[in-house]
Amino acid sequence: MSQRILVVEDEADLAQILVDYLKRDGYAANAIGDGLAAMDELRRAPPDLLLLDVMLPGMDGLTILRELRKTSLLPVILVTARVEEIDRLIGLELGADDYVCKPYSPREVVARVKTVLRRTQTGTAAGTAAEATASATGGKRVEIDADGWQARVGGSRLDLTPKEFRLLQALVTHPGRVMSRGQLLDVLYADNLDVSERAVDSHMKNLRKKLAQALPEREAIRSIYGIGFVFEP
Ligand code: CA
Repeated sequence: MSQRILVVEDEADLAQILVDYLKRDGYAANAIGDGLAAMDELRRAPPDLLLLDVMLPGMDGLTILRELRKTSLLPVILVTARVEEIDRLIGLELGADDYVCKPYSPREVVARVKTVLRRTQTGTAAGTAAEATASATGGKRVEIDADGWQARVGGSRLDLTPKEFRLLQALVTHPGRVMSRGQLLDVLYADNLDVSERAVDSHMKNLRKKLAQALPEREAIRSIYGIGFVFEP
């Protein structure tokens, strides 16, 4: 079954071009030109990935993303008309998975869609089922449900931000392997962005705090000084 991409873009000709390119690459794609209508569609039938323009009638892209992130970790690529706005958007920590600036080549956008989908579905690819990876830790298991975008410890849902989820997913699917900050940074952001590796540390700090609360018996993610982090199976 092909993955479905929702294009939220009020410039009808641009939207159509993107939909055509996505379809040519085997995706199911449809476009919506109004923010409120997009919000409805996201509640009714969430796609596999959302391409979201920032400037929209009805409801702007940032508000849509904020609303969406209250309940969903679905992959989002934010589209902005101003390259200088990207830094500000990253700073807002809205939880977008990538950023694209207009004018763009549709081919490049499709490539980004592919990359984001691949990156956000590592857990599914690594396991045979959606319930990808787990490890026994003092009776409690750390589980990643890649399809449901959820992490659980001992059966209880862990309340994570999208970035924390990605970090945990990356580590849990490579148990016992030390991952460098650079590798983890690639998990969080597209490689063409100039983001400091310290971004990894701040998300990791919050993730480890949440894990320590859910799993006080042991340190599930260990920091390896000067190198990175490892999930202890
Ligand atoms: Ca627009």
